[in-house]
Amino acid sequence: MICPNCEAEYVKGITKCADCGETLIPREEFEGHLLKPSDWITVYTTGKIYEAEMLKSNLEGGGIETLIVKQKDSSFPAVGDLAVVKVNVKKTDAENAVTVIKDILDSEEESEEN
Ligand SMILES: [Zn+2]
Repeated sequence: MICPNCEAEYVKGITKCADCGETLIPREEFEGHLLKPSDWITVYTTGKIYEAEMLKSNLEGGGIETLIVKQKDSSFPAVGDLAVVKVNVKKTDAENAVTVIKDILDSEEESEEN
């Protein structure tokens, strides 16, 4: 459970935030609704969900909270099923996340050359 107001996390069974009294919501719901989208920033976009998930697991392995957002790309209205996958992190983590992603993509390029 998580407080949508101050983002404090609580164990199951607790329904109100001890800090601000806000009603807690399940973590998945919090991430799904992105109640404070201004706190998140897109650090990478791709058309491949597996690539986004690979980056997410690497980022989260490094302690960076990561959110994958799938959405249709409205700039390509002719291509019906083409979805854009965005890798979002908290603004405070953005600089680290970009560095981590760059390292991953660089090392992938190297392994493809070999
Ligand atoms: Zn709270």
